[in-house]
Amino acid sequence: MVEESRIDQVLSAHLTPGKCATHKDGFLTLEESRPCPPELDLQSALFLDVDGTLLEIAPRPELVRVSHGLPALLTSLSEQRQGALALISGRPLAELDRLFHPWHGAAAGLHGIERRSANGMLDRILDSASATALDQIRPQLAALARDDSGLTVEDKGGTLALHYRAVPDREQELRAYAEALQRQAGAAIRLIAGKMVVEFQPFGVNKGLAIGAFMAEPPFIGCRPVFVGDDTTDEDGFREIRKRGGFAVRVGSASETEADYALPSVAAVLAWLAKSGLP
Ligand SMILES: [Mg+2]
Repeated sequence: MVEESRIDQVLSAHLTPGKCATHKDGFLTLEESRPCPPELDLQSALFLDVDGTLLEIAPRPELVRVSHGLPALLTSLSEQRQGALALISGRPLAELDRLFHPWHGAAAGLHGIERRSANGMLDRILDSASATALDQIRPQLAALARDDSGLTVEDKGGTLALHYRAVPDREQELRAYAEALQRQAGAAIRLIAGKMVVEFQPFGVNKGLAIGAFMAEPPFIGCRPVFVGDDTTDEDGFREIRKRGGFAVRVGSASETEADYALPSVAAVLAWLAKSGLP
């Protein structure tokens, strides 16, 4: 169980969680047209993206800060559901464990290439065709992200991400270059554009498939799934959730999304979770 003081610390780090969108008369943007999600019940299985959902996005991935009390909140929410809570992230599992220590629950890393079940069993999808394609792209990205370029290549082994947050004006050029690289590398990998990042991923892996794999296992079987995410790669997860009769929550603004509900910020997500996670 999480002590209330710890939950308060999570919330106190985010004093201005913002307001959920509300229906109103007149023109609504897509973001505004989605209401805030209902309170979580104990029958729901909870799937949570990490960056931009539980953690504020940092200039570089290694600079993120974890709110004090967040690991304990995750533990509490998981215990309330007999372990039916999983992180669904583009980060490797080892990084999730480092960030959220001592939490050590179910999780999918690298968009589902790595997966740890609620009982601690590890699974890794091996795909030699995508590994060969990434080997072809790796040196070209490294050359592009030379020291003074403002670009960062994040080599996660099973995926490659090119971050351009420091040079947002180059977005169009960089996306076009990445698309050309993907075409050259062939059908084994796909290119996903996120917030100031493009990522090369194996074609047969996505967050929706990872959620589907958890839902076939205890303690997720039979639960109503809920997924919270903030970015393009989460849309595969939203589609899977809706197929299974659950609900999806998109964080922040989105011109298009398959999510049913919206929360305006990381702070609002933490406040919503903390409300449900109170002992
Ligand atoms: Mg995210």
